Amino acid sequence: MADYDYDVLVIGAGPGGYVAAIRAAQLGLKTACAESRETLGGTCLNVGCIPSKAMLHASEYFDAAKNGAMAKMGIEVEPKLNLDAMHGQRIDAVKQLTGGIEFLFKKNKVTWLKGFATFEDAHSVTVAGQKVTAKNIVIATGSSVTPLPGVEIDEKIVVSSTGALELPKVPEHMVVIGGGVIGLELGSVWRRLGAKVTCVEFLDQILPGMDGDVRKEANKIFKKQGIEFKLGTKVTGVKVNGGKATLTLEPAKGGASETLEADCVLVSIGRRPNTDGLALEKIGLQVNNRGQIETDHDFRTKVDGVWAVGDVIPGPMLAHKAEDEGIAVAENIAGLTGIVNHDVIPGVVYTWPEIAGVGLTEEDAKAKYGDVKVGKFPMLANSRAKTNHEPDGFVKVIAEAKTDRVVGVWAIASVAGTMIAQAAQAMEFGATSEDIAYTCHAHPTHSEAIKEAAMAVQGKPIHV
Ligand code: FAD
Ligand code: NAD
Repeated sequence: MADYDYDVLVIGAGPGGYVAAIRAAQLGLKTACAESRETLGGTCLNVGCIPSKAMLHASEYFDAAKNGAMAKMGIEVEPKLNLDAMHGQRIDAVKQLTGGIEFLFKKNKVTWLKGFATFEDAHSVTVAGQKVTAKNIVIATGSSVTPLPGVEIDEKIVVSSTGALELPKVPEHMVVIGGGVIGLELGSVWRRLGAKVTCVEFLDQILPGMDGDVRKEANKIFKKQGIEFKLGTKVTGVKVNGGKATLTLEPAKGGASETLEADCVLVSIGRRPNTDGLALEKIGLQVNNRGQIETDHDFRTKVDGVWAVGDVIPGPMLAHKAEDEGIAVAENIAGLTGIVNHDVIPGVVYTWPEIAGVGLTEEDAKAKYGDVKVGKFPMLANSRAKTNHEPDGFVKVIAEAKTDRVVGVWAIASVAGTMIAQAAQAMEFGATSEDIAYTCHAHPTHSEAIKEAAMAVQGKPIHV
């Protein structure tokens, strides 16, 4: 057998790649990870999950002080924005967490190969001019912003999520192109800090892929907060002149165009897999029509010894999905059984309130199972949410009618992202709505709304 420099070489140190590298090393495999960024952690830690949550958290406090939510609880303050300090704590969070991955690499003896990796053959890559060989190579190169044809991102006036995290001043009018997760999270940040925000969405409702009731209710809540929506509308051009952008909008189904002026435009119409520059042709690996690398259930590509995980393969582009795939691929390489249940991947939008879901939407559950039972419980009737002045939202539990097995749970609530974990765990264990309804939940907690929604599946909630 050939002698390799490493048992495992991972390309990309995002949540998919760094987790795969650490688990491979934990399993006794000699492991390296190539990363072209200056810091480890990928999109998530550098320009994604972490910095966006730092800005969301801080702006949430500012908004609560400004919009009277604190005054309702007897705390009267007049907030003054120090945007530099707010950015400072974002930068600090990123620095600490990316540094943390470097520490974990050292602790687990993962070698960081600094530079961009390009395949030479299925068992060797070139990184920063050096050829490195490995028995197994894991592609975890992630994704980057999908550009909008005809719209140039300058990261000043017309920004991607990366530029939108770092704006040096609060825009007067921000237009967000795309009513998906990034548009709503980062639109919320700048709305809270004082910008007028208009969101232009191509489809007739925001948050595609989420449950229909959730999409409608979320739209109502964001409108109430002051975000203006132009649904069923596409942006066909953006011209920048003298620090201002002029957008041309057209109804998605055709009709007269209109223009909109803005001093900041956020392009957030999705992300696409990173495969450019990998030289996949040298190993005979092709991408599918969405630019993704296809794998089997074990995360093997069609090329022997080459594996792939995370945003670069099909499935939701989420950090925790990438992490779980990272663990599974390392375990499979080590000869163990690494499995990810792609039917139970929670998704969370970290707005106020948070929006979370796991499993099927009601629409998809009906299409799949025909007959489903649905239980809904409003947060207004949840004692903790009511006490905390958080009346918006609901929990919805969807169960297959024949077996009562829970196939989807959706929540709009201040802490929906935390609440959804119990739903995911229940579904992972094949729980019925009755199982959840008869599980004792601490009082007073937001999570009791999940229990009540499960009781509502049987038509017997207590508090509504
Ligand atoms: P990435 O994190 O993209 O990492 C890939 C890494 O590979 C990059 O660092 C890149 O530099 C490196 N790379 C690429 N090609 C090469 C090469 N040839 N050689 C060497 N290195 C290479 N997800 C959530 O679950 N929760 C959130 O709250 C959340 N918030 C987000 C907010 C924003 C603004 C954005 C943009 C994304 C967010 N995401 C969130 C999505 C999440 O960041 C991604 O799903 C996740 O980072 C994917 O992990 P990955 O390891 O597949 O790829
Ligand atoms: P998205 O797919 O969530 O939303 C893009 C939206 O843009 C869609 O609603 C789509 O209909 C719309 N759109 C597309 N073309 C358009 C056009 N020309 N004009 C108007 N609207 C248009 O994409 P995103 O918000 O850019 O996020 C990218 C990825 O990052 C997502 O897959 C998401 O999973 C991930 N992410 C996750 C989180 C989280 O988990 N909290 C946060 C941020 C990003």
